Amino acid sequence: MYSNISTRKLFLLLFSFPVFLFAQENYDAKIEEILSKMTLDEKVGQLVQKNGVNEENEKLIREGKVGSLLIGTHGPEVANRIQKIAVEETRLGIPLLFANDVIHGFHTIFPIPLAEASSWNPELVTKVCEIAAFEASSEGTNWTYAPMVDIVRDPRWGRIMEGSGEDPFLGSVMSSARVKGFQGDDIKDKTKIAACSKHYVAYGGAEGGRDYNTVDISERTLREVYLPPFHAAVDNGVTSIMSAFNELNGIPASGNYFTLTEILRNEWKWDGVVISDWNSVAELVKHRFAKDKKDAALIGLTAGVDIDMAGDSIDGNVYLPHLKNLVEQGLITVEQINKSVRHVLRMKFKLDLFNNPYTDIEFFKENNLEKKYKDSIALQIAKESIVLLKNENNLLPLKKDIKSIALIGPLADNPEDVLGVWSAAGKPDDVVTVLQGIKNLLGENAKINYAKGCNINDEDTSAFSEAVETALNSEVVVLVVGEEREMSGEAASKTDLNIPWVQEELIKRIYSLGKQVVIVLMNGRPLTINWISENIPSIVEAWFLGDQTGNAVAEVLFGDYNPSGKLPITFPRSTGQIPIYYYQKSTGRPIIEDDKFTSKYLDSPNTPLYPFGYGLSYTSFTYNNIKADKNSIGKDDFTNVLVEITNSGELEGEEIVQLYIQDEFASVTRPVKELKGFQKIKLKPGETQTVTFKITPDKLSFLNKDMKPVVEPGMFNVMIGGNSVDLISTSFEVTE
Ligand code: BGC
Repeated sequence: MYSNISTRKLFLLLFSFPVFLFAQENYDAKIEEILSKMTLDEKVGQLVQKNGVNEENEKLIREGKVGSLLIGTHGPEVANRIQKIAVEETRLGIPLLFANDVIHGFHTIFPIPLAEASSWNPELVTKVCEIAAFEASSEGTNWTYAPMVDIVRDPRWGRIMEGSGEDPFLGSVMSSARVKGFQGDDIKDKTKIAACSKHYVAYGGAEGGRDYNTVDISERTLREVYLPPFHAAVDNGVTSIMSAFNELNGIPASGNYFTLTEILRNEWKWDGVVISDWNSVAELVKHRFAKDKKDAALIGLTAGVDIDMAGDSIDGNVYLPHLKNLVEQGLITVEQINKSVRHVLRMKFKLDLFNNPYTDIEFFKENNLEKKYKDSIALQIAKESIVLLKNENNLLPLKKDIKSIALIGPLADNPEDVLGVWSAAGKPDDVVTVLQGIKNLLGENAKINYAKGCNINDEDTSAFSEAVETALNSEVVVLVVGEEREMSGEAASKTDLNIPWVQEELIKRIYSLGKQVVIVLMNGRPLTINWISENIPSIVEAWFLGDQTGNAVAEVLFGDYNPSGKLPITFPRSTGQIPIYYYQKSTGRPIIEDDKFTSKYLDSPNTPLYPFGYGLSYTSFTYNNIKADKNSIGKDDFTNVLVEITNSGELEGEEIVQLYIQDEFASVTRPVKELKGFQKIKLKPGETQTVTFKITPDKLSFLNKDMKPVVEPGMFNVMIGGNSVDLISTSFEVTE
């Protein structure tokens, strides 16, 4: 139930109101006591992060010049040994924070975040993050650089795989779910870790989808689209936020007083830690925003970056060499330094590091999570992350009494790429490939004929003939194709979103044999799969699903699991259509197909290949009898909107019922529709369920021309359906 939860919270998160603060312990007195004992050097040390376990860093820690370490996956003994240096060998014994990128699992690797968002199942995503936190903390990590909550409307940007897609509402729900999972109710718990929402802010708006590129957006777009998932994280008590690499409207994000101080501190009253991204304070020089590294340190700290993630000493590392000097020169006050140190000390208190600085190795030995449990959650989220894009003539699910099946393609038995990037301590050995998954499911019953066919991305077609033979000798063909994992993620922007040439050739060759062909796609971003979409009868979008890839795909292919995932991102037909997303404005000339002078392209259909919210099931759902229980409400009032959903097919299935709202007319132009709620329901064949959405003022409100949240009187259209296009609607009026 995600429409009706915390309507007040969402109201607050959508607009930049001061938020109500989490009930939290007051550490002020303790913080001041430590602060009063600290030298300036020691204070600066708390604002410095180093990367990696090595002698040089250990020496700096011993000298009190480092407050946190990007530790990597060395295990708890190493973490404890290093912590001991901080606790026992420094003058004040202030413990270290140990950070890591725990993005979609630590040992157990779950689907990439974009895939998990396709589940539209925040409770399950919370469980995934709980497991990741448990495993990470058992290995000495107490801080993850996750969740990544960047809204992305450009699939050329490789980091799209790290986030939850294009929509601020879904993005905010997932942001909250992940923060809850990592941090739990109290991060003092030794199985919880501090979360870090990144990359603040609007990093996903990079021009042309080119990583690290310029972002130039209006304050409205910033507040309505890019900020909400961060605000949701803050509302859920996120401990830290990472400032981004990009510039935003002329001011780099890691030197941006407006976003880092005015919004985070003054508007949202947030008291967590801001950490830069890797070298991003030093990069203020390359932005030509700071004249040298010392100036960069001055700008970064003054804007509100507490910790310098000193990625490397050559291109990064500006606080350690310059902050003290800046204070001595009177360019930064000690009070400014104190403010940032307070944030860092508070985070250490919240994690209870002063009492429990070490990883409790014994505890984790005795209380480990059962592998069976972890695998079952990994399998569940992997299944729910899969999106069925096409299923002509119900080719899927395949019959289990099938005699032979050809499994072809470079991702069919590939345990590396399906882990996706940012896979921490994940191991290919733990991955169930599709080949293995199908064997697990079918046992000895069917003959599985495997051929790789080609590599993911070169021009070698020499293995095609073996693949053709394999296909000819089998009843049905499953082709598992897509991207290498390194094709998405950081610094992995692309101009061409087609499936790599050699694989498309392989697909065409196999298709020409006249066999029944199913395509399973594995990728970190939407691909422009026009030919596949036109010609191949069944298409399963599997993203990168992590350890349980093969079991999940097999269960979907053979109908043990009826797919329920829905796209959290629009699939374009071509890169020329980008940016294309459902949350558009009407324009003064909304598209009319046969009227040339309307807003459209001449050379392409103007619809997406697959719209936001789209995904099929092996059953079908029909939507009927939508109605608002009040035709007219006051501005502060609410109405329920009810809709009947029937499973009109033959199988039990789950449906993600989506609620979109349109303000018919407003003092500021509003999108044609905005997602404002969703519910995942399960129905037996023939069963009907009435789903109710409570339409509260936060769902009707927007920022007026003065950036103040308002609900304006007038008509509102409410649209409900199984994707952002096929919707039934009703309307009601809001009066003064
Ligand atoms: C990425 C961050 C990541 C950091 C530390 C940077 O390059 O942008 O997302 O957390 O490295 O690994």
